[in-house]
Amino acid sequence: MTDPIRIPDDLKPVDGRFGSGPSKVRPEGVEALARVATTFLGTSHRQKTVKDEVARLRRGIGEFFGLPDGYEVIISNGGTSAFWETATFGLIREKAQFAEFGEFGAKFVKAVTDAPFLADPTVHKAPGGGAAYLRAEAGVDTYASVQNETSTGVAVPVKRVTGADPGALLLTDATSGGGSLDVDLTETDVYYLAPQKAFGSDGGLWIALMSPAAIDRAYKIKESGRYIPQFLDLVTAIEQSRLEQTYNTPALATVFLAAEQVDWMNAQGGLAWAAKRSAESAAAIYGWADRSAVATPFITDPALRSNAVATIDFADGVDAAAIAKVLRANGIVDTEPYRKLGRNQLRVALYPTVDPADVEALTRCIDFVVDRL
Ligand SMILES: *Cc1c(COP(=O)(O)O)cnc(C)c1O
Repeated sequence: MTDPIRIPDDLKPVDGRFGSGPSKVRPEGVEALARVATTFLGTSHRQKTVKDEVARLRRGIGEFFGLPDGYEVIISNGGTSAFWETATFGLIREKAQFAEFGEFGAKFVKAVTDAPFLADPTVHKAPGGGAAYLRAEAGVDTYASVQNETSTGVAVPVKRVTGADPGALLLTDATSGGGSLDVDLTETDVYYLAPQKAFGSDGGLWIALMSPAAIDRAYKIKESGRYIPQFLDLVTAIEQSRLEQTYNTPALATVFLAAEQVDWMNAQGGLAWAAKRSAESAAAIYGWADRSAVATPFITDPALRSNAVATIDFADGVDAAAIAKVLRANGIVDTEPYRKLGRNQLRVALYPTVDPADVEALTRCIDFVVDRL
């Protein structure tokens, strides 16, 4: 047996968590949670103490994204996957169109395709590593795309579909892009995410920033008498959120950590600061890959390369899985690629929680490991 590769401590990042989700949670957030361990955790979510934290989270998210007039921050349980089902029942009137360019986009497509009360959606697809785009189509009442495809590391701008039918909605999956990438919310009707990515909290919630048109659509569909499972009823989520509550019990720690993180990000300078910090991390890792003899950015078109999640391919003869394994043994975790993409690759989260200096350190650790494999 060969000796295990030991990365010197002075080469290592301060924090070794580079996962795309769940992602790094700031120790300061966990310490703040510990300080309310006996006054907040284990207390009723129908009482003021918890409702104040839900309110802090909703207010903080609104401030962070510069919530346009009439838009509302809606929160419920089940993470983004539950939001897809909620939108299938409560936002799509009849026919949707999707831009699908990775695993996460594909999951929403499947939910809608399986719904017997909706028409088959139109789906524009691009292979892994590329981007697909929405196009105006008569009869489509809901368009849906992903801002950042976490499985491949492709990011696209959030933009309304020119020429769409009047009243058509745009839904943007911002689960991993939201908080790392710039956005103008007036360009979409629903910008939805979950707090275990850029918002450095834990999973289990979905957060949707909804336009007045989207809220109106939810009420109209509910009034139409369509069968909607109670847990997935968007109107219930809207009305509960307005009361600073969720329909059923939320994970109180997730709510608190997310509120704490949003306040921290707002104090640093909000979305402008966050997007700049992710861009710095992106410049560090893509710059390194461009200079490296063995690594190259997987996304060949620089305009599509994500500042939220970087995917880096390795040359034949350099086993990315072996690199990830050595990194993990040295406390640097979750650089493995999205499994189903099936590439000789590492994937690195560049969320604002991650320090750009740690991304630089990671590149030095990878070089160190490659030299010794
Ligand atoms: C992580 C992720 C999801 C899934 O989120 P869950 O909260 O686990 O359901 C959906 N879409 C994108 C783009 C993601 O990155």
